[in-house]
This record gives sequence, C-alpha cells and structure tokens, in this order.
Amino acid sequence: MGTKNVVNSNYLKWFHEIEKALWSFFGLFGELCGQCAQDTLEAMAAGEREGRDAWCCCMIDNQVHDNWESLNAVQSRINRQWYDAIRREKRVRGVGNGPCPALGEQGCRIKKCRPITCTTQLCSKMLVVLNDLGVVQSATHRALQIEDLIALPDILPDLYGTRKGRTVSRADVDAYLAALQRMKERFTEAVKGGNPTPH
Ligand code: SF4
Ligand code: SF4
Repeated sequence: MGTKNVVNSNYLKWFHEIEKALWSFFGLFGELCGQCAQDTLEAMAAGEREGRDAWCCCMIDNQVHDNWESLNAVQSRINRQWYDAIRREKRVRGVGNGPCPALGEQGCRIKKCRPITCTTQLCSKMLVVLNDLGVVQSATHRALQIEDLIALPDILPDLYGTRKGRTVSRADVDAYLAALQRMKERFTEAVKGGNPTPH
C-alpha cells in the first residue's frame, strides 16, 4: 500500500484498550486455541495434509510479514528492537505462509497492538461454537471478522494508522467497547445454558 502509516500515541492507547476487550471476548473460547495448536502440531508431525485449512491460524498464516508496513510502524514506537525480540531462533517450515515468526511456545509474542486481523478474526471453529450456542447465525465454512457479525464502529484502521483522514472520538471507542460487551454477555449467558436471543 502506498500510504505511509501515521501513528498517533493516543489512538494506539485506545487500540490497545479495544484489543484487550477483544482478548477478553476470545478468552471465552477457553482451551480451543491451545487444543487447536496441539492438534496442528500432531498433524504436522504425522505428515498429514488433509484438513489443513482448519489448522492453527498462527501456524499457517504470517500476519507479521503480511502487515509488515503498518505493524513495524506501530511496534517501533513501543520498542525499536521489537522484531529481534519476538523472532524465533529456528525457522520451521509449515504450510501456507506460516508459521508466523511471532508465534512462541506460549502463544503470540507481540504483547500489544497486534495486527488488526489477529484480534478481530473468528475462525471456522469459533463460528461453529457461536452458532451452536445460538449467539450468532452465520456461515461457518470460512473465517469472518467480528464486525461481520455485530455492528461496530469502523475505527480500528484509523486507530492503527492504516487509514488517514478520519477523526476518531472517545465516544466511538466507547461505542465499540459497549457493543463488544453486549456480545460477550450473550456468549457468557449461552455458555451458562441461558437462552440468548438470536440476532
Ligand atoms: S483462532 Fe481458530 S484456527 Fe486460530 S488457533 Fe484458535 S481455534 Fe485455531
Ligand atoms: S502476530 Fe501473533 S497472533 Fe498474529 S499470526 Fe502472528 S503469532 Fe498469531
């Protein structure tokens, strides 16, 4: 993309606030990602190739290099040596573009302001869970972004600096957090065996 990223410290603070709320939402899936990573490692070790579309996203994608320009602009503000700090010593070839260089044994090594896709994407497995619980009604054969499922202010590219020219207000951030909180409550209620109202 030819547009230079403009990084705004206040916007990054808001981005991280939203990112933490999204992590809290994704935390409701419990051990799903850990189990997925374990299953993927076992399938790779066994030389399996069937079903790899459903493998751990961080092992088949490389969001660091797919989003290098914007990610580097943001992470360099936090730590100029950020890439050296997260890069794994040994490269193991996976499938697709992966594994992502930020992936460590305990998960992602980028502790704040990850690429937008990493914190907004719901994979097929997550979509199956949400549909089975009646929290959403959506297709499940491919990953979706959370804003495909619920109405959220379209502010993350502005906060991350990948889109210029639109001012984001604190009210936009609060509206995003409130919508996310409602979704989280619906999910929690459904897990407890409540009766969420379908969209
Ligand atoms: S987000 Fe989905 S594909 Fe990625 S590790 Fe978690 S369960 Fe697996
Ligand atoms: S940046 Fe982190 S969350 Fe995103 S693909 Fe890489 S390891 Fe996964």
